[in-house]
Amino acid sequence: MTYIFANWKMYLSYQEVRELSIALSQEDFDEKKLKITVFPNTINFSDVARVFAGRSFAVGAQNVGWTPQGAYTGAVSALLFQQAGAKYALVGHSERRYIFNEDNEAVHKKMEACLVEGIIPVLCIGETAEDLKEQKREYRIKKQLSKALEGLNLKGKEIIVAYEPVWAISAGGKGTPCTPADADNVHGWIKNELKQYTKQNVPILYGGSVDSKNVLSYVEQGMIDGVLVGSASTKLDEFVKLVRRVESL
Ligand code: PEP
Repeated sequence: MTYIFANWKMYLSYQEVRELSIALSQEDFDEKKLKITVFPNTINFSDVARVFAGRSFAVGAQNVGWTPQGAYTGAVSALLFQQAGAKYALVGHSERRYIFNEDNEAVHKKMEACLVEGIIPVLCIGETAEDLKEQKREYRIKKQLSKALEGLNLKGKEIIVAYEPVWAISAGGKGTPCTPADADNVHGWIKNELKQYTKQNVPILYGGSVDSKNVLSYVEQGMIDGVLVGSASTKLDEFVKLVRRVESL
């Protein structure tokens, strides 16, 4: 089973999101081989969930609030996303951490909120270019894992980890993808590290400038269970090509 998760971020207009989801919902992908999930913005979320209902796609939240209900202006809770049909939620995406100053404590609370509400959290981790330069990659990733997971009751709970080196994310422009061998190596030791938190097998996805041309070089590696795709997932032809390539394996 290969995971293909599409993070549409805030790239598209309201109408473009509608059009892309309707066009995509008309494609049939092999559910025995692929787990495809689309992460639209919050405004389009319910509409996209309705478009994909009964199709071979799940929908996920790009971010969740950690309190279920109450006087929290502007927040949208994991509970609300669950009620609107979210199966997954991204937690701790680097754009949340570094642009919106989301710290490890908030990430931990969001992980907990997802688990309580029955949403599968996709914990995003990864080092910055500076970490890499200072040889702090392993330190950063281990710290992000421990702060997010320590103290959570993961028994019987599904979680996913996305390894996304911050320097590899395209952020609208051209990114520098991590080499597949390097990513595979990091996935190997993340898998090992995760054993202290859960007995379950945790799928680990690679994210950072994945497109239809390089996707196979990642998913063919032994330790990479799938991909989290940003920019390339927002263009219909490119994304369908990417998915078809993985499906052909
Ligand atoms: C992301 O930010 O989750 C991502 C993978 O972006 P991109 O594919 O555009 O590098």
